[in-house]
Amino acid sequence: MKLTEKKEKKFFSVKDTLFSLEEISDILSSCKKCGKCQSVCPVFENTGFEHHTARGKISLLQGLEKELLFDKSKIEENLKVCLLCGKCGEACPRNIDTKTLFIKSRLILNDFKQKSFIKKNIIRFFIAFPKIKNFIFGNQKIQNKNFSGKKVLFFSGCLFDQFYRDKTLKAFDIFNKLGYNTSLVSGECCGIPFLSSGDMKKYRFSRERLYGKIIDEKPDFVVSGCPTCIDTIKKVWSEFSYDDLILSEKIKVMDFHEFLYSDLKDLNFSAEKTENMKIKWHTPCHIKSLGIENEARFLVDKFSGCSIEKGKEDSCCGFGGTFSMEHPLMSMSVLDKRMKSLDMKKDELLVTGCPACMMQLGRSSSVKKENILHTIDLVFKNIDKISGNQEEKI
Ligand code: SF4
Ligand code: SF4
Repeated sequence: MKLTEKKEKKFFSVKDTLFSLEEISDILSSCKKCGKCQSVCPVFENTGFEHHTARGKISLLQGLEKELLFDKSKIEENLKVCLLCGKCGEACPRNIDTKTLFIKSRLILNDFKQKSFIKKNIIRFFIAFPKIKNFIFGNQKIQNKNFSGKKVLFFSGCLFDQFYRDKTLKAFDIFNKLGYNTSLVSGECCGIPFLSSGDMKKYRFSRERLYGKIIDEKPDFVVSGCPTCIDTIKKVWSEFSYDDLILSEKIKVMDFHEFLYSDLKDLNFSAEKTENMKIKWHTPCHIKSLGIENEARFLVDKFSGCSIEKGKEDSCCGFGGTFSMEHPLMSMSVLDKRMKSLDMKKDELLVTGCPACMMQLGRSSSVKKENILHTIDLVFKNIDKISGNQEEKI
């Protein structure tokens, strides 16, 4: 099914939830209930409750779909009684990546809670009638469940956390399916909103918290779908450090586009072209300042399935962080100029690589909000077609 078809747009987020549930259920079924996770769990040591161990949480999660049918909050409560320390995963003879499993389950539950009454009931309908779900959406199975590869820590950033949670889920799926051992740091801020408004105290606090989380995870790569966050971690942190919190050179910090380009540049794949459909690409300023415009265009071209038009000039969208709030009229005037140069036609898709640009572009009446995509959406759409081709990342 193509990006442009009506059904796809209407059910897109519903489909994400259904596929995520399916993926989780595959992982849950590999638990053999041996209980080796119990003795290492610091929460169990304190409470003595089986439902606080990984085995207990997995048993509860095995009823997740049923839980969504009746909207109870028992699973959510127990999932939250967890330090996400990962000790259970380390002890697990089945190599279950418990931390990733619990984070992903939290994301699904949180997302479900915020869905509209209608969407909740559509999901419930498909859960109750899986054959109809498979008929409409196809039966998606994880093609690459190899979690033994290099470790990618996906940093969602404030805007994905608040406005685009589906992109975090999709990025998670993309990395897992490409064979990376993926974990997530969310609910944290790189500090740039505070630094740019002159609040050094909050900037340092945010930076220290995020730094600590990154170090604890010991990743090979820190990747984000927000180039502003990556620019901040790579450049601003060292310029405004005032301490010795420098990330080891062993940890590579990369924007989503740069990371996937380095992995997929030699891949012999192009998404199916969609007739009469045009995509326009807006280059975020921080993609430019990171010097990865070509990498971003390469990905969009490969995964769009549409012919891409650049527009007459690739200027700023006018968001500029707090600028858009402090100077709304000026911000809108910069946006108008950008939209004029893009010259969006009815039903054209506008792709960009930054959640802040997505928000700002969505303020224009020249493009429908649902027609604004992140490159993550394009890659996610095609990931099953390529995930089987990838070698194990070791
Ligand atoms: S150690 Fe692993 S397989 Fe055993 S009960 Fe815990 S999660 Fe399940
Ligand atoms: S992640 Fe840590 S606290 Fe949570 S269940 Fe596993 S061992 Fe217990």
